[in-house]
Amino acid sequence: MANLGIPQNTIEVLQKYKFNFQKKFGQNFLIDPNVLNKIMDSAEITKEDCVLEIGPGIGTMTQYLAERAREVVAVEIDKALIPILEDTLSAYDNVTVINEDILKVDINRLVEEKNGGNPIKVVANLPYYITTPIIMGLFESGVPLKSITIMVQKEVADRMQEGPGTKEYGALSLAVQYYAEPKVVANVPPNCFIPRPNVGSAVIRLTRYEQPPVQVQDEKHMFALIRASFNQRRKTLMNGLGNAGGLQVSKEQVAAALEQMGLPATVRGETLSLEQFAQLSNILLSK
Ligand code: SAM
Repeated sequence: MANLGIPQNTIEVLQKYKFNFQKKFGQNFLIDPNVLNKIMDSAEITKEDCVLEIGPGIGTMTQYLAERAREVVAVEIDKALIPILEDTLSAYDNVTVINEDILKVDINRLVEEKNGGNPIKVVANLPYYITTPIIMGLFESGVPLKSITIMVQKEVADRMQEGPGTKEYGALSLAVQYYAEPKVVANVPPNCFIPRPNVGSAVIRLTRYEQPPVQVQDEKHMFALIRASFNQRRKTLMNGLGNAGGLQVSKEQVAAALEQMGLPATVRGETLSLEQFAQLSNILLSK
């Protein structure tokens, strides 16, 4: 099958199968060989790798992955794409396509079956409507991972990279930076896709840390604290956390912890680093 990175070949496949794009599935297919090669190079795919692709579409990036990786597992929700993928990937015997919703797949089991439980790479042009649950699901369920290299909305890529004191900084930045080192590797304009998305896109590589960069007694507690802080972004931490149901801390306890950390009582969550959130969580838990 011809290289689908070339726009004319994608158009031919879409016409042959009279494919109707499903907006609800976030379908924007890549039609730029330079971008596809850039993604392969950034993910450093080699014949040793087992790769999970989320949302193969008509199989464009899957073809590039199949050429470079040892094994590719591609999970696609839209059943109308399955016969197309059988056709466009017929030349490869190292690709398995699974017709499922990625949010319902037991990825740990898949990694066990396909790669003996050894770390995989995730590479995807993600459906933008579920970017955050996909990334958080991969990290929080402890899937053995080397890296995640993904196309996302540009604004979301920025959020993952930002540090304290910017308006993009938030719960997603902290969660990503706890598990991985983020690096934006390319900005991708709408004309590299069919149909064109309404937003700019970026490719970001998240390289999984072997050990988190901060010491925290209870990850769940720290993330509950982070979520509560950014849910009430405009409030001081003392007022925001003191009110938050579920955390069971009083204003006074927050005030005492902030004082112990040498921070002013008026401080807001958006100015705290990951290290400071870890410290705050550890102090509050020790009380
Ligand atoms: N990889 C292809 C490419 O680059 O041309 C398609 C990328 S397109 C942005 C996203 C793909 O994810 C679509 O094929 C869509 O049907 C699929 N998708 C959407 N939601 C999904 C889900 N919950 N689970 C698995 N695949 C999903």
